[in-house]
Amino acid sequence: MRKRTLTTLAGTAGLLVALTACGAPGSATDPGAGTDEEATGDGPYSLELAENPEFEAGTTMAALAEAGTITIGTKFDQPLFGLLGTGDVPAGFDVAIGALVAAELGIPFDSIDFTETPSAIRETAIQNGEADLVIATYTINDARKELISFAGPYFEAGQAIMTLEGNTEINGPEDVEGVAVCSVEGSTPAKTIVDEYGADLFATDVYSNCLDPLRNGQVEAVTTDNVILSGFVDQSGGEFKLAGDGETFTQEPYGIGLAKDDTVFRDWINDVLEEAFEDGTWARLFEETAGKVLPTPEPPAVDRY
Ligand code: GLU
Repeated sequence: MRKRTLTTLAGTAGLLVALTACGAPGSATDPGAGTDEEATGDGPYSLELAENPEFEAGTTMAALAEAGTITIGTKFDQPLFGLLGTGDVPAGFDVAIGALVAAELGIPFDSIDFTETPSAIRETAIQNGEADLVIATYTINDARKELISFAGPYFEAGQAIMTLEGNTEINGPEDVEGVAVCSVEGSTPAKTIVDEYGADLFATDVYSNCLDPLRNGQVEAVTTDNVILSGFVDQSGGEFKLAGDGETFTQEPYGIGLAKDDTVFRDWINDVLEEAFEDGTWARLFEETAGKVLPTPEPPAVDRY
């Protein structure tokens, strides 16, 4: 059994691939895609663009609005939240939340630079200025708050386990002690499954690289957030299932990562999120992306820590 440790990050830095959205709408047949309704606003998520928004000089909002572009780190291999689609543009709920923030800065979808940020490089991408924001199924936690700041949460997930459809032995985390389980370096689920449940971790760089090891028996399970696994189950045509009916065993509040202590920017993004929670935009964006597979929840409460 091949086993790599959580600290093995070799190769992941090379995955930081920048690309510029060229405005092609996401595929309407893809559950990670944007809206398939007739577009009335900007981009695939039909968002109203702020016209010449005014921000106090010296703020990050003023700089980004002036530049007319923003770099957003997201995932490129996760159905429902961030999946590269038609025209090499990522689609999903994280991408839609990024588009919402950009639209409030007056930045059209076509002018967003989406950059792939696998789990292990998210903090570094923010610290090095390679991403203005990271919106990438990114759990808010204290260790990460030492390095970067978070707006949000804008969604609450929880850790779950995925197995082959025919597996009857793994029904929850208590069944994985000493069992080969795939997860991703630098993720909270990889740490939890080892530290709390004694799994034999098979660590890789992105979740899609867990699927073949599961198919060919190198691992017996994959673990990460329920909503990521649900996307893979949905795409698998009955090959995979969530163990124990998808019961979760952690709380994973998703935040928007930004430069540490840029409090003015963080407060402003939190205002944008709260407005979207209240006026129905958040629910619409969810329904048009992850909501094609998952039930639409109530929005979470923003945590202005
Ligand atoms: N939400 C978890 C985390 O931020 C797992 C998902 C991911 O790796 O993106 O670590």
